[in-house]
Amino acid sequence: MRVLMISDHADPLALPGSNFHGGQNVYVRQLATRLAASGCHVDVATRADAPDFPAWQPIAEGAQVVRVEAGPRAPMPRDRFGSVLDAFSRGVDDLCEQRGGYDVVHSHYWFSGVAALGLAARHGLPVVHSHHSIGAVRRQSLDTHQPVTTSPELFDERHQQECRIGREAAAVVANCPAEAADMQHLLGTPAEAVHLVPPGVDTAVLRPFDQTAARERLGLPLGVPLVLFVGRLEARKGCLDLVKAFARVSVVLPHARLVVVGGTAHETQVVRDLAAQLGFGDRTEFRGSVSHELTPLYYSAADVTAVPSHYEPFGLVAIESMACATPVVATRVGGLAWSVVDGRCGALVPAREPISLACGLLDVLTAGRDRYRRSCLDQVAQHFTVDLWSRGILDVYRAVSSPVTT
Ligand code: UDP
Repeated sequence: MRVLMISDHADPLALPGSNFHGGQNVYVRQLATRLAASGCHVDVATRADAPDFPAWQPIAEGAQVVRVEAGPRAPMPRDRFGSVLDAFSRGVDDLCEQRGGYDVVHSHYWFSGVAALGLAARHGLPVVHSHHSIGAVRRQSLDTHQPVTTSPELFDERHQQECRIGREAAAVVANCPAEAADMQHLLGTPAEAVHLVPPGVDTAVLRPFDQTAARERLGLPLGVPLVLFVGRLEARKGCLDLVKAFARVSVVLPHARLVVVGGTAHETQVVRDLAAQLGFGDRTEFRGSVSHELTPLYYSAADVTAVPSHYEPFGLVAIESMACATPVVATRVGGLAWSVVDGRCGALVPAREPISLACGLLDVLTAGRDRYRRSCLDQVAQHFTVDLWSRGILDVYRAVSSPVTT
């Protein structure tokens, strides 16, 4: 099967945790790799946003990224993608001509969905879409709690386009039941178009390593409780809540350490300043963005991974941590409320409540990571493996397309 993925701002080979790159990049890279291993030919079209990246680059055998020139070769906030959407869509159209067509187009995020619908109209291709985040839900999570950087007009346009994508795409992939419900209730997507296929992790790569060995490899202290955060440091990830919660944890466990993976230098500084202000700057480590291949060592080194998001469409970090047998303390939002089983894989706590987060972290640290090990591994094996994920996506592709090649 010949698959075109469109991933507007998220280059699958970019370093996650920096410059707006995160879960979508990892999602697209893993899925393209696994589909190619199952015999698909996968091209991933993304905007060229780095001066030194080639126009074509292999991701794995049978999968490659194609970087489309649209606007400056520099990072661009997602919200500004509209200014280059026409140029990007023309580039994707040219690619489609050049490659002699595809059996299915899988678009990621709403700008890609708009490009995909245009392509589908011209080339008669079925579109499968993944939202990765829904504007109306994101807007709700922002309105009352922090300054809104996206204009109301852009939110309105996004909402209209997400509704349209839900009506016109052949299928829409939901990463978790909450997202499936949001698509139907907020976007009016017909129930029969919604397919629940949660992402998964490659358990051959994301697996438990010996904790002491992992800490030694990473230069982290031995014999102290270690709380880990992995992800972009944008406000909705709740990293400032975590710093406030950790201040309380360190009153009870004065040797505890907080390790933060991800974030640009500027984002890191904001979090570092708060930690210093609360008096535990010396017990916090900032590692910046690290290659995805190193993350299993970080998860294995930790006693608990905190995922304190205000809003989380899915939350790959939670299942990655569980795949490494490390419990998770997460907020009870979006995909996290579904993937993390409270009391078995760690703890679920209310969002935006540093005190509750601190209690959750202390409970899990006191119980010890071994108590959660089996449940974490079982949860991933039963629901979140890359095999289940890629088979589920392939079933959706087959349901909507009549492949010219298999
Ligand atoms: N990640 C990484 N290196 C970093 C920071 C993050 O590889 O320095 C990866 C992390 O392992 C996960 C992804 O980025 O796969 C973040 O995904 P998640 O769904 O948790 O958050 P999103 O970025 O989609 O908001």
